[in-house]
Amino acid sequence: MAGREQHGDGVRRRRVVLFSLPFQGHLNPMLKLAALLRARGLGVTVLHTGFNAPDPARHAEVDFFPIHETLPDEATSPDSDILRKLLALNAACEAPFRAALASLLRGGGSGHRQDVACAVVDGQCYAAMGAAAQLGVPALALRTDSAAAFRNMLACPRLRDAGYIPIKEEQLDEPVPDLEPLRVQDLIRVDGCDTDELCGFVASVADAVRASVSGIVINTFEAIEASELAKIQRELSLPAFAVGPLHLLFQTPPAEQSLHEPDHGCLAWLDAHPPRSVLYVSLGSLACVDRGAFEEMAWGLAGSGVPFLWVARPGSVSGAGDEAPPLPDGFEEEIRGRGKIVKWAPQREVLAHEAICAFWTHCGWNSTLESICEGVPMLVQPCFADQMVTARYVTHEWGVGLEVGEVLERGTVSKAVTEVMAGEDGAQMRERAHRLQMQASAATSSAMDSLVRFILSL
Ligand code: UDP
Repeated sequence: MAGREQHGDGVRRRRVVLFSLPFQGHLNPMLKLAALLRARGLGVTVLHTGFNAPDPARHAEVDFFPIHETLPDEATSPDSDILRKLLALNAACEAPFRAALASLLRGGGSGHRQDVACAVVDGQCYAAMGAAAQLGVPALALRTDSAAAFRNMLACPRLRDAGYIPIKEEQLDEPVPDLEPLRVQDLIRVDGCDTDELCGFVASVADAVRASVSGIVINTFEAIEASELAKIQRELSLPAFAVGPLHLLFQTPPAEQSLHEPDHGCLAWLDAHPPRSVLYVSLGSLACVDRGAFEEMAWGLAGSGVPFLWVARPGSVSGAGDEAPPLPDGFEEEIRGRGKIVKWAPQREVLAHEAICAFWTHCGWNSTLESICEGVPMLVQPCFADQMVTARYVTHEWGVGLEVGEVLERGTVSKAVTEVMAGEDGAQMRERAHRLQMQASAATSSAMDSLVRFILSL
């Protein structure tokens, strides 16, 4: 009987406990995984922070259990960089996560001991991996980035010994041995962060994976990352389950867990445009640019003459706090209705809309997968961390994207926009993106089935 085990007190569902860091790009795949495990007969409890808490009403089949953390400002402030956030979240969640998991094991609200098969925890949360192992609960790490980016993380100590890290100006174009097609400039980095601190974080993740984890779950699929997946399994001697693209594995997809209210009006605006005529622009939920870059983006879009839908998220211009970034003077008059600007879009529906021709993206892994799954070619503008790796794969491994320009400048932006929308390269990228879309839609749920068998064997 899948997902069930006979106990002294009758048949009880085996349970998986999941925990994600409170980022949009981590919660979304984790909640999809939760729904897929539940559909296969396992009990599912989601432990979560109070900050950016998921909405239980949207996930009726799943039990939710808050960990009651206290977060310092740097874990949540739009002005703190991703490394600050990750370090602060790991530190602040460790004890509350352990206490919540221990409470669940004792029976939590249910009154009887839970048969917890394993904990699937955020692959960036070394604190939770260690805490689960200390409580004797087998842990699986859920990677919400690509297999290639995870390999880059695992390789950091070697790259540091070999002198590739810290990254040096004169080596930027050098290929990185055993991580091709990456060059030195594509390695994971967070601008402005101390190399020791970044390497320390990466080492904590890699150490926790090696010491405390029984398997890796990755939101990717074999057709695009077969060789990276095989290498991860070899390097870690752990099973790696490529269960993605998670959002495609549903007949009826569960409600999106959106941390911001999507502006559905943009879909009606898209309806008024011919097929493949609009550029969609979004840098995801965390990335920030400075005011100068924001203005170059704006004037580059204006100069391209192309219709565009632009997510100008509140907090996406550094130093401006939580405010929606003001548009440059004269910009709206210049574009005369040719562009629509929203604070947050229903992205998956936007990418699936026939009016969309291309996606200017920061190459967050979810956005990249969503674009691939709709056959939409990309303009890449990676901002930090794994986005560098993904951008290189988009442009040079899969051939479905173009760089927006080494320096963000309105003239190069306009040129890149015109090329991806109407140029010959753009047409070829669209064809390749269409082929990847076919492969993504052929990705089966066999990795999910193997994952469930593995969980039941723990
Ligand atoms: N997203 C959205 N509306 C927006 C911008 C982003 O729904 O206006 C969603 C997008 O579909 C994706 C997630 O937010 O699922 C962003 O995750 P990603 O890994 O691409 O980037 P991150 O935000 O983690 O940098």
